[in-house]
Amino acid sequence: MRIEFIKITSLFFLGIFLSGLQPLAAFGAKITDVRLWSAPDHTRIVIDLTDPIQYETFSQEKPPQFHLELKGVTLHTAKKEMEVKDPFITKISLIELGKDRVKLVLHQKKALDINAFTLKPYQDKSHRLVIDLIDVVQEKKEKEERLKQKEIKPKGTKIVVIDPGHGGEDPGAIGPKKTMEKDIVLKVGEKLVHLLNQNKEIQAFLTRRGDYFIPLEERIKIAREYGADLFMSLHADGSFNPQARGSSVYCLSLSGATDEAAKILADKENTSNILGGAFLRPAAFAKDPHLNQILLDLMQNNSMKESFRFAETLLGEMKTVNLLKYPSYRQANFIVLKAPDIPSVLVEMAFITNKEDESLLNRKDFQEKIAKTLSLSIKKYFAP
Ligand SMILES: [Zn+2]
Repeated sequence: MRIEFIKITSLFFLGIFLSGLQPLAAFGAKITDVRLWSAPDHTRIVIDLTDPIQYETFSQEKPPQFHLELKGVTLHTAKKEMEVKDPFITKISLIELGKDRVKLVLHQKKALDINAFTLKPYQDKSHRLVIDLIDVVQEKKEKEERLKQKEIKPKGTKIVVIDPGHGGEDPGAIGPKKTMEKDIVLKVGEKLVHLLNQNKEIQAFLTRRGDYFIPLEERIKIAREYGADLFMSLHADGSFNPQARGSSVYCLSLSGATDEAAKILADKENTSNILGGAFLRPAAFAKDPHLNQILLDLMQNNSMKESFRFAETLLGEMKTVNLLKYPSYRQANFIVLKAPDIPSVLVEMAFITNKEDESLLNRKDFQEKIAKTLSLSIKKYFAP
């Protein structure tokens, strides 16, 4: 058994660094749950804790395992040996070591890059310890496949990227019958991509293909790698008022929101990064120094004009399937709509917090109807 000491130290310090603002010597924390989300290129494990903790990490090469020792903590979950269906790990073990120490062992199928970090409580989420296991080879392959699409696309073909909002740790809005926004938008997104791909002149792709979280900035990056001509983020609205109903369409604003409601909605959608647990690697989102700011502004202005044109087409079609919350599109500062060179809109299909809308959103025929309407609007937008 060989242990990599360099990794131990670096990951140990990473853990301490990221939890540096929290009281370090917390004792009496409880592990209340362990959750797992599988993406094509990474797996995320989330450990729920009642209080902040200290931890140390170790990587073992043969067999490949990741060990994490949590201090000042006791187990309060029945999940101790979890066999899992996942592309990268087979089992998660939680072992009580005594003296308020618990060891977590991740049984890997192969060598992986590992990133562990803590998250503070937010809304209904408790303290969390997040472990991302990343397959860098697969990550690179996914990116190369996206980049290839714009090179091989036939002349005149339009690329559309559909973004099912939320995912993984971030469920989005939740209905009275516990329907989650993240599940509905993925179902409609899959149907929409299928419908769009029936057209010779359109190639459509999804930003996420399962129940996992992608940071908002990554979603833009994915669309740009595909060379998207149009980007559509799919959502289902939520409100404290159970009577609120209807569909709405949003575009980006660089100078304040159309109204307070649009601002509140954008703020809510933008918290997705916090709920989903985005770990932003600074280099990935640094500004490109080679991009000319004037050119960038011109591009952004043009994309926004196109987004408005598409939003109007979209509303014209949407009113045939559901009542509209507003007769025209609204604007606010949505992070996910900020691609400077891609016309982007965000669609709130209906209110998941309204009983009638929730049951509609759960119905396959309604999901198909919405997908058909969105597909038709996209075709109309591209029509010469
Ligand atoms: Zn949403």
